[in-house]
Amino acid sequence: MSETRAAQANIGVVGLAVMGSNLARNLASREGNTVAVFNRSFSRTELLTTEHPEAGFIASETIEDFVASLTTPRTAIIMVQAGKGTDAVISQLSALFEPGDIIVDGGNADFQDTIRREKENSAKGLNFVGAGISGGEEGALNGPSIMPGGSVEAYKTLGPILESIAAIVDGVPCVTHIGTDGAGHFVKMIHNGIEYADMQLIAEAYDLLRRVGGHSPAAIADIFAEWNTGELNSYLIEITAEILRQVDPKTDKPFIDIVLDEAGSKGTGVWTVQNSLDLGVPVGGIAEAVFARAVSAHPEQRGPVRATLKARPEIAIVGDTFQEDVRQALYASKIVAYAQGFDAIIAGAVKYGWNIDKGAIATIWRGGCIIRAQFLNRIVDAYNNDPSIPSLLVDSYFADAVATSEAAWRRVVSTAALSGVPVPGFGSSLSYFDSLASERLPAALVQGQRDYFGAHTYHRVDMPGTFHTLWSGDRSEIATEASTH
Ligand code: NAP
Repeated sequence: MSETRAAQANIGVVGLAVMGSNLARNLASREGNTVAVFNRSFSRTELLTTEHPEAGFIASETIEDFVASLTTPRTAIIMVQAGKGTDAVISQLSALFEPGDIIVDGGNADFQDTIRREKENSAKGLNFVGAGISGGEEGALNGPSIMPGGSVEAYKTLGPILESIAAIVDGVPCVTHIGTDGAGHFVKMIHNGIEYADMQLIAEAYDLLRRVGGHSPAAIADIFAEWNTGELNSYLIEITAEILRQVDPKTDKPFIDIVLDEAGSKGTGVWTVQNSLDLGVPVGGIAEAVFARAVSAHPEQRGPVRATLKARPEIAIVGDTFQEDVRQALYASKIVAYAQGFDAIIAGAVKYGWNIDKGAIATIWRGGCIIRAQFLNRIVDAYNNDPSIPSLLVDSYFADAVATSEAAWRRVVSTAALSGVPVPGFGSSLSYFDSLASERLPAALVQGQRDYFGAHTYHRVDMPGTFHTLWSGDRSEIATEASTH
């Protein structure tokens, strides 16, 4: 470590690709911060410091000099490629940091890795904080939504620094201490899952307005712009209007028509669904969004299946209310997707022992992140009114909103089915709602089948205990201890 280097930076950033550079610039622009920067390849560091002399960065060519330039407790935010890159930087920093210092991983880490890393680093006396940072490049520069996990002690030092760079909504910074170890990255993962669902639902609304409603992309842009002034007001609705209004300069066609309809993904939606499956939480809206991208990305199946079809359904004729019906179906489906996402957060908190404030999470998603929306205030209200509601759908505002939209929602889903327009998000959300709303579910039959072929046993509606019917014997019922429910 350099003997001559003075410790003068209260915060450091390691990894100066687009996210790290922007976050470092954001940090440097806030009063009271002096920012040390380091990148594996020094050329990136030089580029950043040359292009932004106003930031007053303290640049280092070696990790030793970088560490020496930090005041104690040393605090460094890692913004490198998630996975091996993060582990490599953590091992470099942890070899040089001292007990009480703070390592923050601001990348898109798997929360299970964060739990492991926290354990390894806290054994050395170091504070390790996995912080989900949402908002992409623009958010990192101007104010992201930040979801830090880690210890309460680390948050005392880190909190004010993160609050200084986060987005601000109604005077409240979009950052809160989510919970210990992997809580921050877990909640960021669910945030991304909800983002998948929100995007898919908006895409289905567009498709219906186009194929069934017969509107042009420019007309649909106007519809979305109008929706953005009401209860659907959100960043995603706003950018959807702009995308649909865009005209391709090369062809003069609507931009949407020149984009290949095969969607990609980076994995956090998949992680959300995988973890929700493990937790036993139905997140059908998010899962269908992930699957919809997967279906789109298989042209080798789409083309041949289409080629087998002799006739396609006629597009159903719709009335004047179709546009408003689609808006209401979108809103009801969106409520379901968020309800499912929060259910996954609640189940994760129980499994991993996190004391999570749901209202605080909805609060910090109101700005800086992709799913920022007015609607989140309603979720804040719902959890403030009753933190233990069994589902957001029970909250009086959301229950009323769904009840108001229900008829339109059914018309839209049935019209889509009759017209041959896929609506996996709308359809699964409605089925989920109908499942919760049904007094009896055919799960009773599934239990009967499980008992028949596997002696999995069942409970009765009219008496306590666990039972099995002797299906291959005289079909009498026996009480049993063994239950594999
Ligand atoms: P990135 O492309 O994910 O990663 C590039 C950076 O990682 C470079 O600084 C690179 O250093 C460094 N790196 C890779 N392997 C390394 C290793 N073994 N040791 C040291 N450094 C290593 O960068 P990014 O797009 O700015 O994203 C940074 C993090 O933020 C990622 O975890 C990403 O998932 C997360 N994130 C990104 C976005 C986004 O919109 N891009 C949004 C939210 C979160 P060199 O210059 O030396 O190659």
